[in-house]
Amino acid sequence: MTANQMLYIRQHNCNPMTMKVTSYKRPVFIQQGHMQWLWDVDGKRYLDLFAGVATVSVGHCHPKVTAAAEKQLRQLWHTTNIYIYPTIHEYVKKLVALLPEPLKVVYLTNSGSEANDLAMLMARLHTGNFDIITFRGSYHGGSPQTMGLTSNMAYKYPVASGLGCHNTMCPDVFRGPWGGDHCRDSPVQTYRQCSCPADRCQANDMYINQLKEVFATTVPSRIAAFFGEPIQGVGGAVQYPKDYLKEAYELVRERGGVCIADEVQTGFGRTGSHYWGFQGHDVIPDMVTMAKGIANGFPMGAVVTTPEIASSFGKGVHFNTFGGNPVACAIGSSVLDTIEEDGTQEISAKVGTYLLEELAKMRGKYEIIGDVRGKGLMIGVEMVKDKASRDPLPPADMAEIFEDVKDMGVLIGKGGVYGQTFRIKPPMCITKEDADYFLAVFNQAMINYTERR
Ligand code: PMP
Repeated sequence: MTANQMLYIRQHNCNPMTMKVTSYKRPVFIQQGHMQWLWDVDGKRYLDLFAGVATVSVGHCHPKVTAAAEKQLRQLWHTTNIYIYPTIHEYVKKLVALLPEPLKVVYLTNSGSEANDLAMLMARLHTGNFDIITFRGSYHGGSPQTMGLTSNMAYKYPVASGLGCHNTMCPDVFRGPWGGDHCRDSPVQTYRQCSCPADRCQANDMYINQLKEVFATTVPSRIAAFFGEPIQGVGGAVQYPKDYLKEAYELVRERGGVCIADEVQTGFGRTGSHYWGFQGHDVIPDMVTMAKGIANGFPMGAVVTTPEIASSFGKGVHFNTFGGNPVACAIGSSVLDTIEEDGTQEISAKVGTYLLEELAKMRGKYEIIGDVRGKGLMIGVEMVKDKASRDPLPPADMAEIFEDVKDMGVLIGKGGVYGQTFRIKPPMCITKEDADYFLAVFNQAMINYTERR
């Protein structure tokens, strides 16, 4: 029996429920990581193309970041923000320098959910309104409040509070804009639902009209915030039509709402062409939320907003015991330096573009590769039964390919509303050789799948 099998049985007996969260039928227990590589308890090496859900930004146990963490761990772990420490100043200064005016006030949290909870609270305090618009296919967190924003039913529970209502039309969170006959289900470019003759829908006017319809019919005047991921992460690398976000921001602001960019997955250079995903849309949000890649896997999150919105707290304060603790700040600071020094954004652009081009070629070869999309190292490969129906590849078939790719030594992710999209979001230190290795493995998985049918 392998160490993986032994641990599987042991964990299954102790806590069978936790096994539910593992992605694999035959789980692997990871023991060690270095940059883009992971090793399991049996010593097998994997190329990690999912980075703990787009989180390990500069590389597992990156030596420089590890050294910064070690130094801080010897110096000071925690005081709460009652007693301020130099690392927080140094970090916040570096972070705001990366954002455009007037985004200059930072609140530090421990996760993306906390950051989005806080952004939602500030939007409501600032506008005096309550309603929030989010997108189909969105993921904004697992806290009861952010669960209400999250659209994917797989992550929602009906008892999570008014906001966490499992009904997509619960009273205070409006999904939209939604597709009409033309694109039945999604406000954003996607292959599955769109019946445009072109591969991908570019019908910006239609989507904008749908947003106007949401305002006209369901959110008369009480809009607090418009929440959007610049590229949907869990939703499967789904992108907006060109110019959509710019027009949508104008409509929201005209009605007194604030615009929030959830950069939890798209931030820190992951999209390659820009440091923040919103920059690809020619907009400046009123609030930016971030987490995941912010600290390379250490728990950390942030909201960056304007002084005006921040002042909505009035005399009240935002308190978070661990948020922005000295160790998180030292790690976050080192991550920012490392992104610069290692040129990870450039790697994202270069290797990401290469992967997108090569996967697009593979799409031409295999009937089950429906769409290849994304930007930089945020890539989605949408799998279908066939290109004519565009029906999603069933979960069992997805799992079969997933396991095959893992057995050949590559870890990828899954997502999409129907679980039909493979997600590729590696640590941003991968090389062209790694990309070639993955392409060969994925090609083999396609051959294996076809041959087994
Ligand atoms: N926003 C987005 C876009 C995310 O992808 C996630 C996590 N998948 C979150 C928010 C929530 O972050 P966390 O899990 O750190 O609470």
